[in-house]
Amino acid sequence: MALVNCPVCNKRNSDKAQECRYCGVSFSGDSASLERWRRIERIKKQASLTTHGFAAVTLVVAAMTLYFWGGDKPSSGEQISAFTMGIVGALWYVISRIRLFLHKRENK
Ligand SMILES: [Zn+2]
Repeated sequence: MALVNCPVCNKRNSDKAQECRYCGVSFSGDSASLERWRRIERIKKQASLTTHGFAAVTLVVAAMTLYFWGGDKPSSGEQISAFTMGIVGALWYVISRIRLFLHKRENK
């Protein structure tokens, strides 16, 4: 059994498969429907990366809220949690922005 790469998601499928078992595109479709499918996959990927960015920003905002809420000086436990959340959120945001940037560039 040989393996072929899906023309849309580039994952490996059996050469006997009628459609991709990852993204579901039909291998017997014409190039127009293939192109439409590719566009849909691109939009989905982009939407998911954008959602990641928003979730990351939410995490940073939550970290700041935890740190500054109430006016009193936060306890050391709260400081550590807020700091960790802030770092993770910021890194996550940067990574999803980079992924989105690369995604847009490779699909120009
Ligand atoms: Zn596929």
